[in-house]
Amino acid sequence: MQTAVKPSLLEAEAVRAFLTAAGEKPYRLSQIDQAVYRDLVLEVDEITTLPTALREDLARHFVLSPMTLKKDALSSDGTNKFLFETTDEYLVESVLMRHKGDRLTLCISSQVGCPVKCSFCATGTMGYSRNLTTAEIVGQVLHVNRKLALTGERVRNIVFMGMGEPLINYDHVMDAVAILKDQKKFGIGARHITISTSGIVPRIKDLMERDPQVNLAVSLHAPNDALRTKIMPINNAYPLASLMDMLKLYTDTTNKRIFYEYIMLGGVNDSPLLAHELGTLLRGHLAHVNLIPYNPGAGWPDMKASSRNRIMEFQRIVQGYDVPCTIRYTFGQDIDAACGQLAVKEGKNAVAAEKQQKFQRVQKPVS
Ligand code: SF4
Repeated sequence: MQTAVKPSLLEAEAVRAFLTAAGEKPYRLSQIDQAVYRDLVLEVDEITTLPTALREDLARHFVLSPMTLKKDALSSDGTNKFLFETTDEYLVESVLMRHKGDRLTLCISSQVGCPVKCSFCATGTMGYSRNLTTAEIVGQVLHVNRKLALTGERVRNIVFMGMGEPLINYDHVMDAVAILKDQKKFGIGARHITISTSGIVPRIKDLMERDPQVNLAVSLHAPNDALRTKIMPINNAYPLASLMDMLKLYTDTTNKRIFYEYIMLGGVNDSPLLAHELGTLLRGHLAHVNLIPYNPGAGWPDMKASSRNRIMEFQRIVQGYDVPCTIRYTFGQDIDAACGQLAVKEGKNAVAAEKQQKFQRVQKPVS
């Protein structure tokens, strides 16, 4: 007989319902939140602000966290990659990056796999299993905060750039953002949270209306429909013209700069001609382009990274259109830190990924 999976203490509604049914006062929930999010207890038993009987009762009905840490890989550049296992045995990744000045940014996942299937992305090759719950999303940050507490640090910046398309899992992601911002929980300012999307146009509008302070990043990767559709099939659903119209409305409304991600794929999207096209597309927009050197092995087996000179030339051309353009430092190459790389190699996600890659190999490669 299978043992029923216990809910976690990060599921506020379940905890609230439990406390109400047990006839407990509402302030008990605040005590639990304080212990879980601020004091970073490791066991339900450690919530010593609660009476012993309630603690024992909670421990019988709840686990502390909805995921377990399966692997913690440290790169030679200080980047940490965390691999978590969900209660239904899927693997989910988060990556902790140390920027200059020791600014810590955690890249978190929002789905198991991804339905968007960008051709250069390891997560895209693994197929899609399910959305992460709100508890599973914030659980990643909580685990990392527990580790950082040992050195007196905390996660201060969050990017939704891990596995999955966050705006497809919109409700859970926005609930997670509210918890991340909550001063009594993580206390991370909206300006330190970035949601990165492949361009789910209607949801960008929802995001703009619901939380305009959160930063928006857009995975662009090509400046025209023909090429973008080849490497990002989502462009069929939301072609560039509709995406750019929405992004113009976004910047006009929020007055916030949008970060455009552009992965540099050798011989695919890195020509000077395409740099001119990108500059023309973004000229006059409140935009910042991030050129991302491709991490080999992440997607198509035959995709390769652009040379350093090629990337610098591309940057120079885009900047010539008065569009700020930087080259992003690539973190953790020696620990498979690119989105989905580690989860693809391990666990049951790997089976789906292998099937997907076999399927893709018989398709026409991106030219
Ligand atoms: S790049 Fe992002 S949107 Fe595209 S397949 Fe990977 S996870 Fe999904």
